[in-house]
Amino acid sequence: MSIRCMIGALCAGALAAGAAGVDRAGAQTAADGRAADRGADYGGADYGETGSAPYLGPVIDMHLHAYPANGNGPPGQFMCPGEVAADIRYDPEIPWPQKFTERGFNPACDDPIPSPMTDEGVRDGTIEALKRNNAIGVLSGSREALADWMAAGPGLFIPGPNFGSRPADPSADDLAARFRSGELKVFAEITSQYRGVMADDPELAPYWEMAAALDLPVGIHVGVGPPGAHLLDAPEFRIQNPMHLEPVLRRHPSLRVYMIHAGFPFVDEVKALLYVHPQLYLDTGVLQAALTRKAYYAFLEELVDAGFADRIMFGSDQMNWPGLIDEGIDAINAAPFLSHEQKKAILYDNAARFLRLDQGGGPRGAEGPH
Ligand SMILES: [Zn+2]
Repeated sequence: MSIRCMIGALCAGALAAGAAGVDRAGAQTAADGRAADRGADYGGADYGETGSAPYLGPVIDMHLHAYPANGNGPPGQFMCPGEVAADIRYDPEIPWPQKFTERGFNPACDDPIPSPMTDEGVRDGTIEALKRNNAIGVLSGSREALADWMAAGPGLFIPGPNFGSRPADPSADDLAARFRSGELKVFAEITSQYRGVMADDPELAPYWEMAAALDLPVGIHVGVGPPGAHLLDAPEFRIQNPMHLEPVLRRHPSLRVYMIHAGFPFVDEVKALLYVHPQLYLDTGVLQAALTRKAYYAFLEELVDAGFADRIMFGSDQMNWPGLIDEGIDAINAAPFLSHEQKKAILYDNAARFLRLDQGGGPRGAEGPH
């Protein structure tokens, strides 16, 4: 069980809550229909009235996980886009893991995103979602899971390690060997804040040195995590102000780094860092689900208005809900303040530049392309 996610709905609790009140087959049909409707929606007049034309070309998803079905607690929990952190009415008389699990099994929205009940279902649902969106993605996972998913979806995944949530992480030398061989291509997702280890902690220094020496693209989790993360299975979890990255960026000025979850909600710090450090990018992982849509758009629009549209990369943070990929792409295409060119930049161009896809991506000397 793990929680290297922002939502991590039920990372803690192995509660055997019942899937009461939700028609799973109906929710799946609704999710499929929502994806199938995208073409019609995009071609209709609504988008023309509310904003620029949608971007329908290839997509790069910077943020995928090779999770098992129980990667966020008991399988089968639903996700309500835009409502994870909203409307939590809580009395601590009830343990937080129990409350959080109950929310997953009793979604309050009309159109929840279902999660597959089996490991194969999560993998295959993710592959189908990528294919129907003409997408590829950065996939982090265990060595075994990466091998399995990459065999099942050849050409779809750019592999990265699980890193940072456990005291027994591989050494920098061990990781370097996996990057040099081409087994791994992106050093993401670093989730050490779940152990209370910030980006500028001396414990991470050898890893930053290794990434700089190999010229790896690096993604690190900053900002917040799931509501009550420290009450779930990460008792040492701490909020990470993105400013913890500044010493790293100063020490390694040519290192490509992206802030996972866009540094929300530290918008002033994010703008300062993007302004001062041109090597820095960010991804939008899970913001389409964890925040109200209004809060997500307000945060995104502030960064775009400040001139940083070319540093924002789409990420779904798909863990156990393949529909997050559709929802995340739709959220960008429906943003009324984005031009068509900005949608294209966020959904593809910025990530292609960051990953150097035209050079095969990954560390120098590794085999490409993806
Ligand atoms: Zn993640």
